[in-house]
Amino acid sequence: MSKYRNEQEILVKRALGLPVNQKTYIKNLYPCNLGIFFIGKISTSILEKLKIQIELVFHSFFFDIKFFGEKKVETCLYNTHTKVEYNLLDETTEEVVLFPTNGFYSIMKTHMVIERTVIGLGLTNVPIYSSSDEKLLFLFGEANLKHKCAIVSTHNLVDLNKSETTELRLIKEVIHEIGHIILGLEHCFNENCVMQFSANTKEIDRKSNHLCEKCKLYLENIRTRSNF
Ligand SMILES: [Zn+2]
Ligand SMILES: [Zn+2]
Repeated sequence: MSKYRNEQEILVKRALGLPVNQKTYIKNLYPCNLGIFFIGKISTSILEKLKIQIELVFHSFFFDIKFFGEKKVETCLYNTHTKVEYNLLDETTEEVVLFPTNGFYSIMKTHMVIERTVIGLGLTNVPIYSSSDEKLLFLFGEANLKHKCAIVSTHNLVDLNKSETTELRLIKEVIHEIGHIILGLEHCFNENCVMQFSANTKEIDRKSNHLCEKCKLYLENIRTRSNF
């Protein structure tokens, strides 16, 4: 990398509030294929909208976005370190089984090799917790930069009164996690940016489904650097 490009990258990372020494996993990776895997029960009615939004936000980053049909919550997931917890994000006192995110990453890694996709996104209806920080329960989603994949759970995104709200939340979380794979694990401080952290569904509903100008600038930098 030339000195100039290196300086450009540091400037963009400063503008984004990213640590300048944060390892970038994006060199010469894009454009590539994105594979979306269903693990559990997911309504397929959202797919076209999801594809349009991903193409809009990450324009020219993906040659193709492929959907890979419903896969059962595989036995291997039940063999992982599951947790039984009360669902704290709603008012029910029902106990539910949560699955660790690394179980999904290993399923996706296998399917990504078979289907030849560089980036993988898993969608599931079951509740998840972070295998890297077990205190993080009922995650909406999590990305793994090393394996270039992410998982989004619809479990706590559902609005029982309005299916459009559920769809919009899912779109935002999917864009957010793909954003992490491309931009890194830091969150954006712009209140309207999809890369802002959301602790609950109210915060998801408040933010937009697109990137702020600073995050767009970082995408543009990747495009310039990789010549696409
Ligand atoms: Zn995030
Ligand atoms: Zn932003």
